[in-house]
This record gives sequence, structure tokens and C-alpha cells, in this order.
Amino acid sequence: MEKTMDKIVNLCKGRGFVYPGSDIYGGFANTWDYGPLGVELENNIKKAWWKRFVQESENSFGVDAGILMNPTVWDASGHTQNFSDPKMDCKNCKNRFRADNLIEEHSKGKVSAEAMTNEQMEAYIDEHHINCPVCGKHDFTPIRQFKLMFETSRGTIDNAKDVVYLRPETCQGEYVNFLNVARTARAKVPFSIAQIGKSFRNEITPGNFLFRTIEFEQMELQTFCKDSEAIDIYNQNKLNALQFAKDIGLNEKRLRFHDHEKLAHYAKCACDIQYQFPIGWEELNGIHHRGTWDLSRHQEFSGKSMVYTDPITNEKFLPTVVEYSIGVGRLALATLCEAYDEETLENGETRIVMHLNPAIAPYKVAVLPLQKNLNDKAKEVLRMLNKHFMCSYDEAGSIGKRYRRQDEIGTPFCVTIDFDSLEDETVTIRDRDTMEQKRLKIKELVPYIYSKVEF
Ligand code: ATP
Repeated sequence: MEKTMDKIVNLCKGRGFVYPGSDIYGGFANTWDYGPLGVELENNIKKAWWKRFVQESENSFGVDAGILMNPTVWDASGHTQNFSDPKMDCKNCKNRFRADNLIEEHSKGKVSAEAMTNEQMEAYIDEHHINCPVCGKHDFTPIRQFKLMFETSRGTIDNAKDVVYLRPETCQGEYVNFLNVARTARAKVPFSIAQIGKSFRNEITPGNFLFRTIEFEQMELQTFCKDSEAIDIYNQNKLNALQFAKDIGLNEKRLRFHDHEKLAHYAKCACDIQYQFPIGWEELNGIHHRGTWDLSRHQEFSGKSMVYTDPITNEKFLPTVVEYSIGVGRLALATLCEAYDEETLENGETRIVMHLNPAIAPYKVAVLPLQKNLNDKAKEVLRMLNKHFMCSYDEAGSIGKRYRRQDEIGTPFCVTIDFDSLEDETVTIRDRDTMEQKRLKIKELVPYIYSKVEF
């Protein structure tokens, strides 16, 4: 079976995971809206991540900071100066590309432009006669840096406008609150601050569905520590991030570490976890050892001390930061790609099935009355189950077709109500992956399903 991005996109659009943004207006490039199934999938992914990295982690605390921040934050972080991509326009067809992407795509990933200067990239593109991927001509403008931050303005009077930015990453909300959290949560270094929230980037490259969007959610964990502890924490973060990716349902053989060749001047080491998407190996998440750069810059630009005092030793120092950051949509896309399967059944038919980890599946259980006159009993079972789980209810069509519909959206269990259910308070429960069916007492359903869908 060939697993293509087109198949995933079509299933997502057709079944209600994801729709093109502003669809009735012909869409809006690199934006997508999550439908009834997509929003459940995303919420479940976020819940699983929060459980792992906040609830089950010692010394980890959540925040939910504003999207709009004091603009000086972005001077301190370096974004107003440096957050840009090397852009080239095709003079012939007017399409816009990232020079580094042109090189990487042309060399099929064998050459990395990560460490190249703009001049080196231009020279490479000329020497290798890389053509425009759209019109095939070799007629590019020189590279110009393209700013990735979205600007907006605040103020009620037109001429009193101040530029503000839609945040391009969530982590600054964690850095600026470092001392607030340390004080109010009585948190002792090393400790972590986690956040899940929207970020915005004026991305110029084509999106590949949810992979690269201009508005996206990030899940970020910033660990504040002594510099001497940072490498161990960084290495542990790599393992934790990999373990989470596996636990959420990604196959180990499609995951790998990619250590960065080119580091930001303040960084000691940086690594991505890559996933083998149908479009190739691409970054799933990043893990960065950021030194004391972030807190020292905020100290400098805000004029407020960010120094931490160890309550036991009284030692005073500026903590080093280790970051783990992952996009919700990008992870959702990876889980959808991983889960997609086409199976040939014994009768020769093909079933499309999404083998999603039950913990992140949009619906945990579908309630299916075998016949219409069993609806009352089925609704009674539904009302019992939907106090605990997201449920689907389907009374239309043959039972086989109804099973297929649930397979396609990854529902791990189908509960069928038949005439025996009226007599003996039992139902048939069918497993999505094995298609095995067994009888269970109605009152056993809730604990049974809980035992299978917890993360
Ligand atoms: P890329 O090289 O793919 O542009 P990046 O290195 O700029 O990503 P980071 O700034 O480290 O990414 O962001 C952390 C994570 O946020 C990424 O690993 C990815 O999962 C997610 N992410 C970043 N940009 C986008 C985007 N435009 N759309 C969706 N997810 C994104």
C-alpha cells in the first residue's frame, strides 16, 4: 500500500478532521480549520502531552501567557532583527521560495544549507543550475531576508499606532514569567515551565498540509537549571521526547535524532527529532540547549534582575535553559500518517482503518443499534458512556458499513445493541484493530473501555 499525503488529506477533509481554512472563499494559503474529529484529536494530543510533561513530571508548572506581548520582548529575543528566511523570487513566474529549501529539495536531502551563508546558497543554486520548481526557469532574484513575524498595531487613534507582534513562538511567555513561577510555585531550580498555545509565522514555503501553517499551536517545555546540569537535562529531554513520540503511536523505525550542524551563537547543542512523513524525513520537534541567553537578554532589555537565588545555598546565578518544543498540528499529522492503513479482508474487500492510539482517537466508542427498534436501549447505553468518553452514535446503514465508517476515523471500539441486550443486559463489543467481537455486560463497559484508552 502506498501511503501518500493526498490520501491522508482526502480522508481528513472527507471525514471531518480538517478543512481548508476559509473554504467558501477559495481557501487561504497555509491555513486549515479543524473539524469535529480534528478538534478531538488535537485536544487528546494536548492532554496526553500535558499529562506526561506537567502532571507526571516533578517540578513542572504550566502557564498560559498572552499571544500579544510587550514589543520589547521581541527585541530581547532577537526576533525583530533576525527572525527571517532567505527568500528568492522566480522572475519568470513570480513564485517565492526559500533558498535553503531549493538546495535541500534539489539534492534530495543530501546537502544541508543549514550552515551556508546567503552568498554560498546563491553560488550553489547557480553552479548546480537549480531551476524554479514551478515553471522550470533558472531566473531568480538575489536572496533577500523575509521577515517571519506578523505585525499588527494597537491604539485607538490612527496616528498613535504602536506596532505589536503576534508571537512567533510561545517560549518567551515562559521566560518572562520565570521568576513569577519560581516565587509563587515555590519552585526550585531545576524546574520546568510548560505552555501550550498559538504561534504565528509568516511562512513563505508551501505548507504540506498541517506540516507548515502560518498559525499553529506549540507545546513547549522550558527547563531552568544550573549550567553544569544542562547537558544531562538536554540528553534526558531527547529521550523523553522520543519516548513520548513512540507512546503517542509513532513507529520507532520512522523516528530519528538529527543533531544540528549550525548552532545559534548562544547554544551549546541542538537536536531535532525527525519523523519519516510521506514527504520524507522532516522535523517533528526541537530540543535546544540555550545557555543563559534568554534570561540574560530579558534582564538586559527589561532592566529587571532575572537572577535566581538558591534558597538553601544562597547561591545567585542566571539559569541556563533547555527547551523542548513541538507543534500540535505537526504531531497530529504524523499520527494520522502513521495510523493510516488499507487492509485486504478475507472476502477480498479493502478496509481503510486508522490505527490511532486509542488515547488520542477522536471517539473512543461508537454505539450502534442493530435495528431501529433498539434505539431506546442504545440511547440508554450511549447516555451511560458519554458521561465518560467521546462517543459516536450511528443507526444508519448496514452494520458492516457502520463498522467501516468507524474504522476510517479510528474509533477503537464499537458497541452493538441487539435483541439479546434487552433480555440479558449484554452487548457486543468490537475491536477496531483485530475486528474481534465479544459479549460484555453493559455495566462492565465503562471500566473495560477506560482500561484501554488511558494514556
Ligand atoms: P522549521 O525548521 O520546520 O521551520 P523551526 O526549527 O523553525 O521549524 P522551532 O522554532 O524550533 O521550529 O519550532 C518548534 C516546533 O514547532 C517545530 O519542531 C514544529 O513542530 C513546530 N512548528 C514550527 N513552525 C511551524 C509551522 N509553521 N507550522 C506548524 N508547526 C510548526
